[in-house]
Amino acid sequence: MTDLDALQALLGPTAHPVHLALEGEHGTALPPLVDHHVHLALIDEAPLAARGVAAVIDLGGDPVALAQRVRPAIPRVAYAGAFLTAPGGYPSDRPWAPDGIWREVRSAARAAGAPGGATTLVDEQAEFGASVIKVSLNADAEPVLDADALDAIIARAHERGLPVLAHVEGAGMTRLAIEHGVDALAHTPFSELLPPDLIHRAAAVRQRWVSTLDIHEGEDRARAAANLGAFARAGGTVLYGTDLGNGDRPPGVSASELRAMHDAGIQGAALVATLTDPWPLATPPSGVATFVPGPVPAGADGIPDWLGTARVVPREELTPDPH
Ligand SMILES: [Zn+2]
Repeated sequence: MTDLDALQALLGPTAHPVHLALEGEHGTALPPLVDHHVHLALIDEAPLAARGVAAVIDLGGDPVALAQRVRPAIPRVAYAGAFLTAPGGYPSDRPWAPDGIWREVRSAARAAGAPGGATTLVDEQAEFGASVIKVSLNADAEPVLDADALDAIIARAHERGLPVLAHVEGAGMTRLAIEHGVDALAHTPFSELLPPDLIHRAAAVRQRWVSTLDIHEGEDRARAAANLGAFARAGGTVLYGTDLGNGDRPPGVSASELRAMHDAGIQGAALVATLTDPWPLATPPSGVATFVPGPVPAGADGIPDWLGTARVVPREELTPDPH
């Protein structure tokens, strides 16, 4: 086994030994890393690239502000726009949620332009540049979107080529999302331990789950970790995501989120893959790569902390090491 084989056995086929052309520092190149759950309005995005994050997905913000933002090239930003929720539903009842980050779905109307209709609200997010549509399914903060409205949202989003992602919380909400064809979950389900048949069904329909384990403590954290481990073992697609802006964590690749995922059973190359999946976009940001300095850990246990030292570099600065 060559050194390259050993490296790629640990980190996956996208990993390569490199050095920086100018400084000569040695390390490992990986594809650009993505945080699949952030809230840009609540964070300072300037340090993200120096701390390894090349792309982010904003999962709940004012669509007008998002569409008007000045766009630095890195981090590349994709977004959902506003949460679509039932009148009075989550997160409109939350003190942290500013006006503009949710829209009340007042009918399941499929006619374009119907006031407060499901189609109208999907169209609004899409016109403001959304790459994914986010719905709120929170049974612990009723009312919840009714199934007809959910179906209408999903139908319109899919017509427009956009996936639908749900915040699920409370009894039965994960089942509702899976049975109605929601494409992704913004958080690993944390408020109930899911039965194996439901987890297998989620994996079989190729649902994606954004991890966000480290925002939880206690029972919620234990349930989320158990659900995520079972989902990964069933072949489900896990995406790294931190919910950055929820709570007070530093911007950048989060070693503590990665440790929680590792402890849940998503390790080595599988862990790296959760960071490099460009979903909901088709391709990673171009022209940049991830550089992780220093020697590669001897085993998977060291990978979360090692990835926590990653930074974004121009691809052309990386020179392959001979092997
Ligand atoms: Zn969030």
